[in-house]
Amino acid sequence: MNATNEKLAQSLKLTLDEDQLTNCMRCGFCQTACPTFIETGLEAASPRGRIALMKAVVDGIMEPDESFRAQMDLCLGCRACEPACPSDVKYGQLIEQTRAAIAAEKPYSMPVRVVRKTFLQGLFPHKGRLKLLGKTLRLYQKSGIQKLARTTGAMRLFPEHLQQLEKALPEVSGDGMEDTWSKAGLPYRIEQTSCGSDLMMIPAVGPTIARVGMFRGCIMDVMFASTNVNTIRLLRQAGFEIVIPRDQVCCGALHAHAGELDEAKQLAAQNVTLFGEANVDYIASNAGGAVPFLKSMII
Ligand code: SF4
Ligand code: SF4
Repeated sequence: MNATNEKLAQSLKLTLDEDQLTNCMRCGFCQTACPTFIETGLEAASPRGRIALMKAVVDGIMEPDESFRAQMDLCLGCRACEPACPSDVKYGQLIEQTRAAIAAEKPYSMPVRVVRKTFLQGLFPHKGRLKLLGKTLRLYQKSGIQKLARTTGAMRLFPEHLQQLEKALPEVSGDGMEDTWSKAGLPYRIEQTSCGSDLMMIPAVGPTIARVGMFRGCIMDVMFASTNVNTIRLLRQAGFEIVIPRDQVCCGALHAHAGELDEAKQLAAQNVTLFGEANVDYIASNAGGAVPFLKSMII
């Protein structure tokens, strides 16, 4: 085993939660929930397969070589496998621990580091920059450039994964849920917590049965603000008062999935503090990856 793999193997032995690794009873119920398994059909690209690879490294049966790293990289971190698991294996924790160890032991190449820094530090934690991205995408879609790029085949000049991303773009509004709500003239007021942070308060329709904190999500609020707005409409009709801490930030799940655990914990702690100060009874969110991550931070 070369020195890099040896260091990574030692690091994984120290960081991976062995209880979680042994909790997996290899039943395979998670396989059909996993998009990378569905797409590739490969056992190694499934949750069960990845857990087996992690355990094999911890047991000293295999080395964490390039193929090991490739399978860990391929995981989307969506955690769709967790609810399917009868043993309650915390797969999300295992993949986060593995990626953090990989990131610490084998630095990424310069281009990868630049891309990671741009998105993880320069974009996702900044609401203003995300809004600017949303408005730029909106302009791209509404100005006719998107139509031109598609009809002329200009998108073929870009790498395959960018072409796929472009095809999957929803219609972007350019406004987050708060701006969409206020521009529509719907009822709200701004209050401050005792610690001085702003809350957007949206009253229930009829008597209030509870206060619901709305976690908007970062990409979610740029790409699918209308879904957030519709959720608020539904909750109001059901008698919930909606509380939106305005300083909430990216949940940190993307950082955790990328192995940047310290930054992920900082972002999560900021959100946990803000929602705690808002004194809400429940927290609602449409950002699928954010919810299990924030829950794991609170519990
Ligand atoms: S997190 Fe998503 S991609 Fe990764 S193993 Fe689980 S279901 Fe598959
Ligand atoms: S469902 Fe849970 S116990 Fe079964 S193989 Fe998947 S991770 Fe392991």
